[in-house]
Amino acid sequence: MKIDHPIPIGRSQSQPVGGHPVSPDFLHYRGTAVQALDELSQAQTLGQLLDRAHMMWCGPACEQTMACTFLHYPRVAPPPGTPRAQRSRYNKETADLFPLMGGDEYDPSSVKVHEVDFWPLLRAVAGQVGAGKGLPVDYSDWSKKGDATAAASVRYACRDAIQYMANWSGERYADSPVAVHYTAFAVIVDELCIPPLDLVQGRFRMYGRSAADLAQVMDEQGWGSDGPQVMLALIRQFMLQYAEKVEHASDPGRTRLKAHLNKTPNMWDALIYRTHTANCYGVAIAVGRVLGSGPSSFTWLWDSSICNATSMDLCKHPIEIYGYDYQNATASPRFFHQRRTAYRSIYLDLIDDLVASGAPEALVHYGRSGFLFVQTQERYHERRASRRMPLTPAITTHLHDLFGDTPADSSLERRFHPYKAG
Ligand SMILES: [Zn+2]
Repeated sequence: MKIDHPIPIGRSQSQPVGGHPVSPDFLHYRGTAVQALDELSQAQTLGQLLDRAHMMWCGPACEQTMACTFLHYPRVAPPPGTPRAQRSRYNKETADLFPLMGGDEYDPSSVKVHEVDFWPLLRAVAGQVGAGKGLPVDYSDWSKKGDATAAASVRYACRDAIQYMANWSGERYADSPVAVHYTAFAVIVDELCIPPLDLVQGRFRMYGRSAADLAQVMDEQGWGSDGPQVMLALIRQFMLQYAEKVEHASDPGRTRLKAHLNKTPNMWDALIYRTHTANCYGVAIAVGRVLGSGPSSFTWLWDSSICNATSMDLCKHPIEIYGYDYQNATASPRFFHQRRTAYRSIYLDLIDDLVASGAPEALVHYGRSGFLFVQTQERYHERRASRRMPLTPAITTHLHDLFGDTPADSSLERRFHPYKAG
């Protein structure tokens, strides 16, 4: 296997990112990230991969209900603490001054409880997919930006990852190259339809790196229990993204998943699913490590992740790219108005709770960073223009330094094709 830069270059060598885990140590699985990937790679079907990943997360006692934290977020509001960040200026008292997302004014009673059990929905797609290899939708381009090659999709996803990390971490954006590489995996699955088994079995690589290569670096750099946890979060993201895309490709606009998640005024189900498909949770841990946020509760990581996704959508709405998404979380034939009110109300509740409960500044900032990156990153403006913008010389240099020079191998390039439907 070829890796362009086995030892990533850049400022990371002088400032290694190590330290104690950021995430709470609740995983049933006690092995390393490399061992986890190795075990997961033995799965032969999407259903087996789901079972193995879930077993590592919850253990055998989990009854796979809405209480299961691998697929759901049964939230308990955090107790008050000593704030470590300033309150957002966009808050419950100012929200009605801005028409973000539409809907009504802030609603303090927005529900934060699941109504839909994701398990049967995901099982149904897993049964439909089987081994998840060789479907026509595999490796199709979902970026809506007209990429001509897989190399282009990978290169732009890595640009996005660098820019995201800078918006979250400032000048420390390159302190942990593996955190940037991990973020790039979380970006590319939005752009390409990638079979999850290809992720765990190493057939999908970015700049020569597989998920297992990242796991190895995490283990070597002392990520501890954060390593297997972010890997499981990434695999969860790939499985849910794949389920969404396979369903959309088989019947655009009328998927079982979307129909179930969006059928009532309850916004929580679609919001959690949506946060999973962006893997905000796994990336929050990576960002917390870069910034040395210290130990964080499950609630802080999840609330910050939800706010990260919702602040992005709140800002996509006024610049008219929210509606470009294949699956937007508030879509509903009957309840979209209530759902939009709930969507931004949940954001306003959670971002205040993060501050009031004393969450690390890194996670508060991560939660509201959608207000920053939608404005500053080409990714969003490219979506509106349906075409790519040229890479700047600075980004080209950083791509070389942080990732390498060969974005896609020949087998990925052969499998890449445009996606037409939808
Ligand atoms: Zn579970």
